[in-house]
Amino acid sequence: MAVLKIALAGIPADGRPVSAVVPVRAVQPEDSGSLPVDEVQLEGILLPLDGDFLFRGSLTTVFSHFCDRCLASVKIPMDLDLLWAFKEGPPLAWDAEFTGNGEEKFRYQGSEIDLSACVWEELVLAAPLKYICREECAGLCPQCGADRNADACGCLDRAEESSQAHRGFADLAKRFPDLATADPESEE
Ligand SMILES: [Zn+2]
Ligand SMILES: [Zn+2]
Repeated sequence: MAVLKIALAGIPADGRPVSAVVPVRAVQPEDSGSLPVDEVQLEGILLPLDGDFLFRGSLTTVFSHFCDRCLASVKIPMDLDLLWAFKEGPPLAWDAEFTGNGEEKFRYQGSEIDLSACVWEELVLAAPLKYICREECAGLCPQCGADRNADACGCLDRAEESSQAHRGFADLAKRFPDLATADPESEE
């Protein structure tokens, strides 16, 4: 998206402010799977630094998904502090940009820096692995599908009863081992 492409000519020493709200599809590469995000807000400043550039700012968004347990809607707000260093040169492989050691640098070429790829990578790294509406969410009953947060359907109690019934049979088998095992090797 054009608003995230920053022309490098004439950036003053105290930097160029960037303030944009863009739909996530504007930063999503065509070959990437989607993220449960509507739009992202990028605020910050692009600063010249020793012939290269530094972007300092914040990225704000909301991940909206349904609860992994009960399917209720879950919204997880995200507010990330950003410090992106840009170095001139051909693009690196995706994973080479985050190598740790304080050496993370994005690459840029030509007369502008496109912040969309950086925004996308931050989103991918920040995306929650799980969506749970609340820690103690009881989820849906696997047997009848009832929301166990709202009402106790009783399926679990019945499952407990039947497993006790099975244990009853096991006790019976212990008391009558001849009936329970029919091992031909043991018969002379
Ligand atoms: Zn839930
Ligand atoms: Zn149930």
